[in-house]
Amino acid sequence: MTGMASYAVDDILDRLRAAGGRITSARRALVTALLAHDGHPSAEALAEAVQARQPDVHQTTIYRILDDLERLGIVEHTHLGHGPAVYHLSETAHPHVVCDRCGAVIQVDRKAFESLAHTLLDDYDFVLQPGHFAVTGRCRTCVGE
Ligand SMILES: [Zn+2]
Ligand SMILES: [Zn+2]
Ligand SMILES: [Zn+2]
Repeated sequence: MTGMASYAVDDILDRLRAAGGRITSARRALVTALLAHDGHPSAEALAEAVQARQPDVHQTTIYRILDDLERLGIVEHTHLGHGPAVYHLSETAHPHVVCDRCGAVIQVDRKAFESLAHTLLDDYDFVLQPGHFAVTGRCRTCVGE
């Protein structure tokens, strides 16, 4: 499992290098923290994870790295609700729907937004970006109450 994870880190660092980005130990630590996190980490949570391994890396440095990685197409952020943005690696990014009663987050396939995307494009000349903000509503549990 550890071997798999380190392979994936190197994979992503290769893409970062190919996109013209430098590999620093702080950048490596951030990518590692993103891969190790199986949920939806905020910048603050990622900073904590990096600082647990490298206490000398300042929080503002970590925020700047996130911006850099986003500009280079390695990382994407998304807004699940009122809280801070959360981060995904671009290759695993996906749209979300969020229950506005209990806060449950459901990851959905991009296909779920296809017909809406077509309608918005045809009727409004609007190009939908379904991954940037979550769509809110009620989950299965809450709709029954
Ligand atoms: Zn945003
Ligand atoms: Zn709910
Ligand atoms: Zn997600």
